[in-house]
Amino acid sequence: MSTTTFIKKTLGLETVEPGVTPPTNAEASFARKPKLSAGKSKKRDIPEGLWTKCPKCATMIFDKELDENLKVCAKCGHHFGIGARERIHALVETCSFEEMDAQMVSVDALTFTGVAAYTDKLEEYQKATRLKDAVITGVGKVGEHRVALGVMDFSFLGGSMGSVVGEKLTRLIEAATEKGLPLIIISTSGGARMYEGMFSLMQMAKTCGALAYHDKARLPYVSVLTHPTTAGVMASFATVGDLIIAEPGAMIGFAGPRVIKDTTQAELPPGFQTAEFLVEHGLIDAIVPRKEMKEKLIYYLDFLAERMKKTAALG
Ligand SMILES: [Zn+2]
Repeated sequence: MSTTTFIKKTLGLETVEPGVTPPTNAEASFARKPKLSAGKSKKRDIPEGLWTKCPKCATMIFDKELDENLKVCAKCGHHFGIGARERIHALVETCSFEEMDAQMVSVDALTFTGVAAYTDKLEEYQKATRLKDAVITGVGKVGEHRVALGVMDFSFLGGSMGSVVGEKLTRLIEAATEKGLPLIIISTSGGARMYEGMFSLMQMAKTCGALAYHDKARLPYVSVLTHPTTAGVMASFATVGDLIIAEPGAMIGFAGPRVIKDTTQAELPPGFQTAEFLVEHGLIDAIVPRKEMKEKLIYYLDFLAERMKKTAALG
C-alpha cells in the first residue's frame, strides 16, 4: 500500500506524559495558519513553503488548505499540478489499492550523455519525488467497481514516457483484459523520454496494441487528461479511450502552439489546445473538475458496467 505515505505533522504533544501539564509553548507548536502581513518586502514577510500564489487569480492560498482542496484554488477553481499518489488517495477506497510493478526502473540502454547522464537524472528524480518512474499502476476499488488504474506524475522528468511508463501501463492493460476489469488511465506528460530514444517511441505502439485487446474483450477504458497532456502520450493511449474526459483548463495537444504556428503559418484560434476548446470540437467528451472526479468516474463506470452486462447477455 503506497497511497498512504502522507505523514500528518505531529503536534508535538505526543511525548507529554499523561497527567503532566502541556508545556507552556504547546499552543505555538500547533500548525497555525501564519498571518500574511502587508509589509513592503513580500519576500521577507511571507514564510516560504507555506503559501502559494494562484497564477490565475493571484490569491495567496495557505498550502494546507490547498492540499485539503486537492490542489484546486478555492476562489477561482484553478487546478494546480497534483502528485500521482495524492490522486490515487483521492480516488480509490481506503486500503483497496494494490500497486503493480512498483520496483520497475529504467536502464540507460543508450548510455545517454548530455548535460547530465541519464542514470544521474533518474537517481536525482527518484530521490526528489520518491517515485521510481513517472507512472503508478495497480488495481483498486473506485466506489463499488474494481478497476485497473494507472496514474502519471508530471514531477518525474515531466511525466515523460520511457520504457518503464510504457511497460507498466501495458502490463496494467493486459492485467485488466485478463481479469475483465475496466481501465482508467490519468495522464499528464510532456511526451516521449528523449534519453531513451527509439525505446521511448515504441511505447506508443505497445500501449495501443494492448488497448486493442482490452477493447476486443469489450471492456471499457476511461482516459482522463490532466494539465498538460502532450506529444507521444497524447498521440497514443491518452486519446483512444471509450470515454475521454479532462480537467478544466488542461493544456492538451501534440506539439506546442508556437511550433504549430510556425509550421502552418496560420493564426491559431483563441483557447487553442485547452480542454474547453477540445470539448467543443469533439476530441473530449466531458470536462470534470478534480473535486467531482471520483463521483463522476463512479457514475460513468455504473453506466459502462451495465452496458458490459447487456453485451455479455447478448453473447
Ligand atoms: Zn485562483
